[in-house]
Parts: sequence; structure tokens; C-alpha cells
Amino acid sequence: MASTPPDLDLLRRTRAAWMRTQLSPEARSRCLRNGIEVPGAPEQGDARADDWASWQWHNARRLRYAEDLVALFPEYAGREVALDAYLERYELSILPLNLLLPEGVRKFLPRLGLEPPEDPYGVQRADSVVVGEHQDRTWYLATRKPDYATFLVIMGGGAGRIYCPIGCAGCYRGHQTRFGQPLRVRHDDGRVEDVHFPPPTSQIAWLVEAWNAQEVFADAYDLLLSGGEPMMLSNRLWAEILVHLRCARHLRCLRICTGALFLGLPTRFDDAFLSLLEAFRRDTGVATKMAVHVAHPDQVTAEAVHAALRLQAAGVELQPQIPLEPGVNVWLEDLDRSERTLRELARRLAMGAGARPYKWLLDLLGGVPLLPALELWRRIHDRHQGESDLTKPTSFALTLPRAEGNVNLSYHSLWAIEASIDRGAGRVRYRLPHPSGVRVDYEEPLLPGVNDDPSLLRPA
Ligand code: SF4
Repeated sequence: MASTPPDLDLLRRTRAAWMRTQLSPEARSRCLRNGIEVPGAPEQGDARADDWASWQWHNARRLRYAEDLVALFPEYAGREVALDAYLERYELSILPLNLLLPEGVRKFLPRLGLEPPEDPYGVQRADSVVVGEHQDRTWYLATRKPDYATFLVIMGGGAGRIYCPIGCAGCYRGHQTRFGQPLRVRHDDGRVEDVHFPPPTSQIAWLVEAWNAQEVFADAYDLLLSGGEPMMLSNRLWAEILVHLRCARHLRCLRICTGALFLGLPTRFDDAFLSLLEAFRRDTGVATKMAVHVAHPDQVTAEAVHAALRLQAAGVELQPQIPLEPGVNVWLEDLDRSERTLRELARRLAMGAGARPYKWLLDLLGGVPLLPALELWRRIHDRHQGESDLTKPTSFALTLPRAEGNVNLSYHSLWAIEASIDRGAGRVRYRLPHPSGVRVDYEEPLLPGVNDDPSLLRPA
């Protein structure tokens, strides 16, 4: 397919036109106070603020082809054959706003050869998948790990696919979003079953029906709507979804898991969507929150600050989730740089966007080993020295595809975990204290100089 290389100069001017006319005064002053760029550019007739305000305009101008990537990112020059081979299976997608972020764009540059695990945290396990029988078919409705308070609803974005245009190279659901694989039900004995994906509105209607009717679901109260990217659904579909959710008897908290705010589509949160959500919260008393994905200080853009303030004014609590990713916010050979980057991200979120970092997540694709990640966590842990506790994330999750559930790591974990280093096998094996009262096993490749220093496991 013929490509149309993005015109970065036009993007900059279009962005500047939006800044001149649509950035709110409060967002502007927050940005200036917090070192967040409010870019300007010479005014020219071909740059229209309304284009930048349209998320559909952004979607249509994504970078999607190898030759455009090579033209803009010299590190791919000379690797075209490997790049073409990778892109035969991997769906490349870089949004215009992300192309303009000097360092933040690295989150979207494909890591050639990276193969995401099929089900890194067990959302497809047979004991966790909630299905419904309708119209003589078995449909995926949600995932609820045994006894969890939360229903996680992975929603399709059309044609039964889990769709996300944001295009993180290390997508935690990359098997589906980037490699086009369907969601499946996986049994402990290795059997794998296909499952149908309903249209999102039917999915929510059927889930609410089952949730209200089945005693086993009565103690779940939290609903996390996820994708792909749920904000790609139109406002008309969101209106229908919220009508169904008004009937959910046990619902107390609605969360939307989205990358749109900080990862390239902040203008998706338009007036019509905010009104829908605000009316839902006001009428039902259900708390409305967004789990917002962000990884680098560059991604706290002026547009994102503007949208974040509007969301919060509409009563939506923002919960930034920060995956630790190699080459994006963690450099294993330079933990000082990693620490500076994560601190600055936390400050821009807390004081610029007004949303305290909520959670760090250990890279589900295994790109950041546990030991240096815990060392970083220890370093930035709140001591009221050089940092206010406004910036400290509330938790650090190691998501595990197992019955005990996730572990929320503490810096004390450094000194409570047992690790054995098997140089022959090239593995590090950990035994982690788990809140369920047991120790759980965790294993990763041995990287000399990175996760083979047992002295980190002892307080000085
Ligand atoms: S925003 Fe989320 S679902 Fe979309 S590509 Fe990034 S990690 Fe995947």
C-alpha cells in the first residue's frame, strides 16, 4: 500500500494553532509552572486548530508503514529487511502527537524480534473467563479472577478484534492488539478454546444480566472496561453502554482503562462524552475513574493537561498507571537516568495534570528484571527528602498469571525475597513473600551486571 509520509512541520503548525486558540488558561499556566512545553510555531493558513482538536484527524494520520519509519528514525536504516519481516505480523501505529515527542516517541518504536507472551497475566485462564450463551454461541463477557472484586471487561473494537490505534511497542496485550491474534480460553491442561467476541453493547448488557442474576458474582463491585482502546467506541455506543450499566445492581465503581489521554488522543474526551459520564455518576452514585496509561514525562503534554483538568472537573478521578519499559523509562545500564525520568514523570503528573501516580507495573514482557526495578522503587520511595509524597505512586504491581493473584511490591521486598542465581542455566529464580501467606516463584533470564548482584538483597 502506498504511504503518505507525515509532514512533521505541518503537524507542528497545526498543533501550535490549537495551542493558540483552544488550550485553557489554567492548563497553560500549569504547563508553564511545571516545565511542560506549550509549543508555538508561525501562523500559516494551512494549519487549522480544529484539525488538531479532532481525534479522527489524528487517527487518520498515524504513521503505519516501514518506509516512513525509516525516513524519520535513522536507527532503522540498514535493518529494512528485518523491519519488513517484523511488520508483516506486527501492526505499526504511531499517532501524530507521539511523533512530535522527542523521547516519548520511543514507546511506539517497534522492538524488532519482540514476541509478546500470549497471556502474561492470566486473563484468558479458563477459571477466570466469564462467558455467556446467547444465540447458540458462547461469547466472552469478562474476566474475573477467582474472588476478585473486579470484573475486567476486554472489549472488541469491531470485527471481533481487540483494537488499539495507539501502538505501544511493548503492549501488555500485544498478542491481540499488535499481532492480530484472537482472545482464547486457556485451560490448565493446555487445551485452548476459541470464544466469540460480542459487540460491546451486547457484551455489557449480557454481563449485567449475569452479574445481577448469579449469586457467585454478587460480591464484585468494580468494573474495569478495557480493550484494546475502549475510547475508540463512539459516544453513541458509550451512551448505550451506560444505559445498561445503570441496571447493574452491585456496581459501585466504573473504571475505564485508556491510553488515549496521555498517549496521543487527548482530544477524544470531548464535551459530549464528559456529559455522558457526568450524568451517569450524578444519577447513579457510581464512582467514575480512569486508569490512564503513561510512561514518559514527554507524554504529559499540554493537550493531556487540558483534557485531564476537564475530566477531573467532570468528577472523574485519574489513576495514572506507569509500566516500566526498557528504553522508555528504564535503562538497565543507567539507573540514575531511569530514576530522574520516573521522578520527573511523577512531578508532571501530580502537579501538572493534577493526578498523583497511581501504580507502577513491572514490564509484562519481561524487559525489566525484578531486581533493578525494586532498586529503583527503593530509591524513589518517599523519604520526604528531595521529593514530596505527592509524587509517590501508591503501589508497584507484579502481575502474576496465577491463582494467588498479583503481588504489590514494597521496597522491603528487596530484603525479603530469596533469589538464587543459576549461572549454568542463565536464570534468576526468586521466591517472593505474597500477601496470601505463601511464597510464590518468579523467574527471569540472568543478565550479568543487571540482576546478578545479591548485595541488593541486603540492607546496607
Ligand atoms: S494503549 Fe494499551 S492497549 Fe493500546 S497499545 Fe498501548 S498498551 Fe496496548
